[in-house]
Amino acid sequence: MVDRGIFMTAFAAPVAAAAIVWSALAAGLMNVEPRYVVKLAMPDDAGLIGLPPIEGPPDASRPLVVIDAGHGGHDPGASGQDGEREKDLTLMLAQSMRDALLSSGRVRVAMTRNTDRFLVLAERADIARRLNADLFISVHADAASAAEARGATIYTISDKASDSVAEALAARENRADAVNGVTLADKGQAVSSILVDLARREMRGSSKRFGELVVREGKDVIAFHNQPQREAAFVVLKSLDLPSALIEAGYISNLEDAQTMQDKVWRKKFSGSVTQAIEIFLAERQASAFAGPLPVPVDSGSVAATDGP
Ligand SMILES: [Zn+2]
Repeated sequence: MVDRGIFMTAFAAPVAAAAIVWSALAAGLMNVEPRYVVKLAMPDDAGLIGLPPIEGPPDASRPLVVIDAGHGGHDPGASGQDGEREKDLTLMLAQSMRDALLSSGRVRVAMTRNTDRFLVLAERADIARRLNADLFISVHADAASAAEARGATIYTISDKASDSVAEALAARENRADAVNGVTLADKGQAVSSILVDLARREMRGSSKRFGELVVREGKDVIAFHNQPQREAAFVVLKSLDLPSALIEAGYISNLEDAQTMQDKVWRKKFSGSVTQAIEIFLAERQASAFAGPLPVPVDSGSVAATDGP
């Protein structure tokens, strides 16, 4: 019996204690939220991602167009009925647009991505801003639950969506950041002033003009959606202080559209017409810049004098 008592103290008691500790831990652990380790490619020392190369004429006075292939990396975007992935189509479309712009030789071009890599939305816009781009175009492929929905749409930025379809699309495209667990603060609200508001209005107006030109120049080549020009609050365009647009080249959810977008010949035609719109747009902007701003009176006294009685 004594031996048995010693046994209990030496072995059974620690085992029992360990069991109590373990059950307490397990109970505690069950209340802890599951944790995940997310591995991200780290940016450079300044906290910014590297800038892509600028292609085209080695002349910094030429306008610069930044083309953004939507989605990429672990964010495939929407998918087609035959398993097509939006991120692949957008890259092919963006590369085709780059080639068309470079072959015309009038503008410089940079791409936010030229491989299957992931970028958060703010990084895409940031590349355009840091490169001092004259125009930012994000390329996507639309998706709808109705398989018959088809056609291209060009979106420009607005605080309010032009309709519920535009709103739903913006919500879906803006989700790309959630994929990476990044929440973006709306920095725009902190710096609201009349000047910022005026500049923004000007940018929205010229972005809209670009949208008109894409529809006008593409009407013989691109099968547009019956409402081809829309507005919505896209995160990727929101922070930009330069003209920008998001082109949904077609519906990946529609069999014919998905096939069309995979056709190299069609992509070339599409890019040719978008290139025409881009060049007309930039020429118009250059012309209005040459015309210069309206003359501003030197002082308020002369304004009063010229106004007269
Ligand atoms: Zn998309």
